[in-house]
Amino acid sequence: MRKFISAILITFLLWTSNSLSESTAPIAKSDERNQMKDIVRHILESNEAFVKNRPSSYFTPFIHGQDPIATMVICADSRLHTHALDIHPDGDLFLVRNIGNQVSTAEGSVEYGIRHLHTPVLFIIGHSSCGAVGAAMSDYSELEPSIKRELETIKVVSNKPDDDVEVKKSVEANVNHQVSTALIKYAADIKEGRLTVIGGVYDFRNDYHQGSGRLVLINVNGETDPAAIRKVQPLNHDSIKLKGPASLK
Ligand SMILES: [Zn+2]
Repeated sequence: MRKFISAILITFLLWTSNSLSESTAPIAKSDERNQMKDIVRHILESNEAFVKNRPSSYFTPFIHGQDPIATMVICADSRLHTHALDIHPDGDLFLVRNIGNQVSTAEGSVEYGIRHLHTPVLFIIGHSSCGAVGAAMSDYSELEPSIKRELETIKVVSNKPDDDVEVKKSVEANVNHQVSTALIKYAADIKEGRLTVIGGVYDFRNDYHQGSGRLVLINVNGETDPAAIRKVQPLNHDSIKLKGPASLK
């Protein structure tokens, strides 16, 4: 979007310097139309490649239902790459996306994944440089009411959105807050071993010095001590009963 705004701005500046007798509207509209066409072409070409690379039998398992291995709540931010979290995501994840990776603002979707699809794991994943968390750390009183409502349920630890360290702390605080919300709501399921709630941060900035793009787990059922989390981390692979999605069969 920033590129798009820049393109419009450059177009406008070129126009004002070249010809004051012409209207900006046709230039801007033309530019916008070209941009729109490029975007739609990109999506359709991606879909074309997807279809071409798969036999129709690929889709058969998906026709009559779904059997995801996890409910996953992640931020809507386009930089949170889903293919970094599941390399063969087809049918694996019941994915809920919103600003600030919130259980609080997506209760129905999360509940559907846990109660109706019976996923044994609920992941809640934030990410580096989260704009929603940054906004929640700022004065957002002038924003639209609908956005304000969703920022109110993001937990932050300071009002310094320009401080990277403080943003990182707030991203973690928010993940932990959303995990806490889930722990209260699904306490019985967790107690009986039907559900594990895992909080993490997708670290594309390498804030944790574990490599850019690493998923760093910071909370397992309320446990936030890194040493304790490292001990239970094998749960992700060994003890959690995967339900056998298409990609893991
Ligand atoms: Zn975000």
